[in-house]
Amino acid sequence: MATLVIAGMPAAGHVNPTLPVVAELTRRGVDVTYAADAEFADRITGAGARFVPYPVDVLTSRDIAAATASGSSVAVVARILRATTALAPFLVDLLRAGPPAALLHDSNALWGRIAARTVGLPTISFMTTFFVGTAAMRALSLRESLTVAGPGLRDLPAAVRGRRAVLRRFGAGLVPRSPMLPMRGDLTVFGVPAELQPPDPRVDDSCHFVGTTTDPAAPTAPLDPDLAAHLAGDGPVVLVSLGTLHSAGPAFFRACRDALADHPARVVLATGGTDPAALGPLPANTVARRSVPQLAVLRRASVFVTHGGMNSALEGIDAGVPLVVVPQQVEQFLIGQALAERGAALVLRQHLSHRPVPVDALRGAVERALTDPAPRTAAAELAQRFRAGGGAARAADLIEHLLTAP
Ligand code: UDP
Repeated sequence: MATLVIAGMPAAGHVNPTLPVVAELTRRGVDVTYAADAEFADRITGAGARFVPYPVDVLTSRDIAAATASGSSVAVVARILRATTALAPFLVDLLRAGPPAALLHDSNALWGRIAARTVGLPTISFMTTFFVGTAAMRALSLRESLTVAGPGLRDLPAAVRGRRAVLRRFGAGLVPRSPMLPMRGDLTVFGVPAELQPPDPRVDDSCHFVGTTTDPAAPTAPLDPDLAAHLAGDGPVVLVSLGTLHSAGPAFFRACRDALADHPARVVLATGGTDPAALGPLPANTVARRSVPQLAVLRRASVFVTHGGMNSALEGIDAGVPLVVVPQQVEQFLIGQALAERGAALVLRQHLSHRPVPVDALRGAVERALTDPAPRTAAAELAQRFRAGGGAARAADLIEHLLTAP
């Protein structure tokens, strides 16, 4: 039986798109062991893999959210480097206890690559988004560039120290050269449609774009009775979420509440890091939860106000739902722009320069996405195209081929 160990990144946006691939591999009889933080145990075993917890509190989704909230991807890299010194030796022990045919690591799980190279295993890198090059900065205004670059410069010394510590501990041969993250593997699987990848010199023969990995027909997590009753009422459903890592604070969700308070839509605010109680009283047409079963809500939604994280964007499109993208960082802006060019999204870019999104702009964008049939038609067409890369089944083919190669 072919065996695979997975070194996951403990964040919903990194674990979720791997799960349909894991389910497909285990269905084909591949023995999959998946290491991640305990938060993800249930969904991983639900996909048919054996779950192995990372050592407690080395790296959790809270840690990644805290680094993300500091405003720079450099802080996230510094946090990953810190975790690597503990997670790489842990994984080496796991791999030596029962060597698999290969190791699949999240494209940012540096510890996975170091452990696989230490033990001499082939690597598969799973990319949950596209490569973002420096040319992306040209899409920003000067004000946006300064807002984005400031925190990165502040966090740079911590990242440099972290990289030095990792190089000292594991040696230059095991650590990729700059840009270190995201990493390719011997095989690199993108759960992303090829047409969304901007030209980038890192795209090489190892890279395969399988497109959206979610299965539109798969059962979704259950809705709680209150949420189910709210969604079952009359009028269109508007879902608002900024994902699991960013925290725009209560002001953004209050603006959404006010923008849609007297609208015939039913509104679901998934507030993530913001306490719903901080929003104050909600109108009758609005419910707020920290987290909702997003795929289940999207199947009933008419508009998705999203930060434009790759998973949320692809999940929305896959459900044929037009997007209002409120990007929190450059990558999400590029995703929003790419979908806007294809007619399926509108982009409100104020947060890129730390400005509030005006209530009128929110209301106007949602209204347009609800009343103009073109964005919905575009989303439905894109859903087909974005699945053309073969999705989870194609990813499983590529991985199985590597696992069983002589
Ligand atoms: N998600 C969810 N419920 C929520 C918010 C998010 O199930 O209330 C899931 C969503 O379906 C997606 C993931 O969390 O699979 C978020 O990934 P994304 O790349 O969109 O954003 P991130 O959280 O990484 O910024």
